[in-house]
Amino acid sequence: MTQAWDAPAPEAGKPVRHNAAGMGRVELSALLASLGEPSWRAAQILSGLLRQRWTRWEQFSNLSKALRARLEAEVDLAWPAIVQSHASSDGSTKHVFQLADGHQIEGVHMPYAVRGSGLRPTPPDIIEEELDRVTLCLSSQVGCAMGCTFCATGQMGIIRNLSAAEIVGQVMAMLLHHGHPPDRPINLVFMGMGEPLHNFDHLMAAFATLTDAEGLAIPPRRITVSTSGLASGIERLGAFAKRPRLALSLNGTTDEHRSRIMPVNRVWNLEALAAVLGRFPLQSGERITLEYVLLKGHTDSQEDGRRLAAFARRFPAKINLIPFNPHEGSGFETPDEARISAFCQLLSDADLPVSVRRSRGQDVAGACGQLVREGQSRHPKTR
Ligand code: SF4
Repeated sequence: MTQAWDAPAPEAGKPVRHNAAGMGRVELSALLASLGEPSWRAAQILSGLLRQRWTRWEQFSNLSKALRARLEAEVDLAWPAIVQSHASSDGSTKHVFQLADGHQIEGVHMPYAVRGSGLRPTPPDIIEEELDRVTLCLSSQVGCAMGCTFCATGQMGIIRNLSAAEIVGQVMAMLLHHGHPPDRPINLVFMGMGEPLHNFDHLMAAFATLTDAEGLAIPPRRITVSTSGLASGIERLGAFAKRPRLALSLNGTTDEHRSRIMPVNRVWNLEALAAVLGRFPLQSGERITLEYVLLKGHTDSQEDGRRLAAFARRFPAKINLIPFNPHEGSGFETPDEARISAFCQLLSDADLPVSVRRSRGQDVAGACGQLVREGQSRHPKTR
């Protein structure tokens, strides 16, 4: 049976005017060629856009005056507009971006403290001086084809892929909005709206731009792509020597349960996933992250923990336990602290690297699976 994710997702329409913001080297070279300019100028524009963070052509002091005037007349320089920002009491901010065709997507800016071994729950009391690391949670699509039943975005269905420029644009818009200092490390996680591996080509084009030495030069190990289990996409990703890190949103330890909450499991079940992850070529010290949402009475039993441990031992893995983000109408609850601790301890006793990730931005519906635009088809479920 054909699945929604088998077909390529619809693409963004072609803009009337060129917009250099978010373009990578290849597109910038093509744009420059169309203006009769040499392709090496692409690196200058990339550096101005991403490293210097110039937002007007007149600021591009690395280009001639004549070229600046030409670009000003013919090429836009517009990052996606942030139309709403919701600050959470935990320091994170959920942003709503307006895309050129009117669709809206969401991303989250999360200042994180670096502390501890990661083997204990991150304390919720983030201290200002320790906010030395920022994680940006990005969307990869408008809506999502995967239909996970606990996910608000999944209930929208797929509307379209984000372009590579729109993915890069989320990063730059958030960095500019927060006045992020250039020397402060950034982590990127594709855990917002969409299944990133269903938008593979644009994801990898954005990855190339985000890691480009002339631009933000984000180390690949600081970029994590979280998949619901699209095994065909995992195989494709494994073929790249330079690629982001991989995380699997697991959330279930039996096929019966996982197929009920994540339809993709009906095509690639736990055995198929373990096989594909076992073949995934890892660098020295690299581990695949398993994300596991703890739902009270559904996924938090000791038996679940033992099955999770058995799955995680089949390849180098680390486990992120995510206590469920409660939201209206989900029908699920968060386990109590004692149950979370017991689950964590079981995995730790099995010698597996495990941490409890407190989702950020819960009070503004910006946590994983809560990213959905108001006014679009919100169903009473969430990720
Ligand atoms: S959890 Fe992720 S993959 Fe599943 S429907 Fe939601 S956005 Fe899509």
